Amino acid sequence: MAVWDDLVGQDRVTETLTAAARDADAYVTAAEAAGAEERAEHRFGTGGRDTAAATGAAAEAKAVAEAEAEADADAQAPAPHTEPPDGDRSTSQMTHAWLFTGPPGSGRSTAARAFAAALQCVSPDRALGAAPGCGFCDGCHTALIGTHADVEVVRTDLLSIGVKETRELVRRAQLSPSGGRWQVIVLEDADRLTEGSGNVLLKAVEEPAPRTVWLLCAPSVEDVLPTIRSRCRHLTLRTPPVEAVADLLMRRDGIEPELAHAAARATQGHIGRARRLATDERARSRRAAVLRLPLRVDDIGGCLKAAQELVDAAAEDAKQVAEEVDTKETEELRAALGAAAGPGGRLPRGTAGVMKDLEKRQKTRGTRTQRDTLDLALTDLTGFYRDVLALQFGSSVAIANTEQRDALERIARGSTPERTLRRIEAILACRRALDRNVAPLLAVEAMTLALRAG
Ligand SMILES: [Zn+2]
Repeated sequence: MAVWDDLVGQDRVTETLTAAARDADAYVTAAEAAGAEERAEHRFGTGGRDTAAATGAAAEAKAVAEAEAEADADAQAPAPHTEPPDGDRSTSQMTHAWLFTGPPGSGRSTAARAFAAALQCVSPDRALGAAPGCGFCDGCHTALIGTHADVEVVRTDLLSIGVKETRELVRRAQLSPSGGRWQVIVLEDADRLTEGSGNVLLKAVEEPAPRTVWLLCAPSVEDVLPTIRSRCRHLTLRTPPVEAVADLLMRRDGIEPELAHAAARATQGHIGRARRLATDERARSRRAAVLRLPLRVDDIGGCLKAAQELVDAAAEDAKQVAEEVDTKETEELRAALGAAAGPGGRLPRGTAGVMKDLEKRQKTRGTRTQRDTLDLALTDLTGFYRDVLALQFGSSVAIANTEQRDALERIARGSTPERTLRRIEAILACRRALDRNVAPLLAVEAMTLALRAG
């Protein structure tokens, strides 16, 4: 199993990253050999036998590295934005800052983590010409499961990444790797950097430490501050084919073929959602409820009721996440602060502010969960009307919601393509309104009423 195995349908990206990891590996090998040479000279003085041996080994490693780099350069033309790690080797495929973009669920963070693992690969097979990223060695394994000391993955539940947090990352980026080959920082939600934190990050990306790599992920290039993205090498992931997602669900999660295909088709190439749908009964029933909505908007009362239920379901979901995560988090922080045992135990003096900060963060996270759940419901609804439109046009494109075939046909017969398009537009308008922080119930009511009007 190589580190790239979970990356579905992204051959071009995998190829680029493999080449970069190869060059990165050669660079570190050469740098370490040069370091060993210096240390040997320091220890034994010049002219000693050991020095000669060390120098020989270093020269050999360097020659291998250079030969490899040249071989790669022959195979692939250098990319325009590539910055070589050491300035001399202008043909290197490696660079210090990468930006992974692609539609939600395409595997941006999976790609970034796989690359992080390949950069830390210590497989002995590398010396025999194998590409780094074996998936088995200690470097690959710990990077993939998230315990490698030199791989920091930043994921946020919050709506934005603040200056304070970014400063901490930048400080870390200046350090040399503690034991691994590179210091890797994966920023999963680079689109959530505020302008202030972007400015803090900019310096670190512009003048990186020699062995530091930034891996930024965002839905699209436009979501990242222009100053940041212009300094990154950009990789675009595509929506993986339904068949490939179903394969992954069967292979990795052991899902039955029928359920795997249904989940992959329903979520149209969103890997995370497909897995959730295939493994979580609650997610399936919630989705089924959302897809009944188009049949329930015949009268105004039905519209308002459906809207209320949709918003309530999202709030319920947020509450559930909060109960699972918040309680544990609060208890952990209390314990760390040295509070007396038990939920009501007294906190030491001067720690109330820290607890308040946590409460504030949890509240923001609740808002975001609720918003994400609503957004997911709206995505499902859009997919439903897209299927209606396909039926109305007699299109041969496979429909996503095969389980709702009867409802789709009923609505397709009872309306026109123009009305279906207006309904899709109403759903998009609702998403935009939620983005602008319009009260959820208000936005969703406006949508259900527009769905009724058609
Ligand atoms: Zn490895």
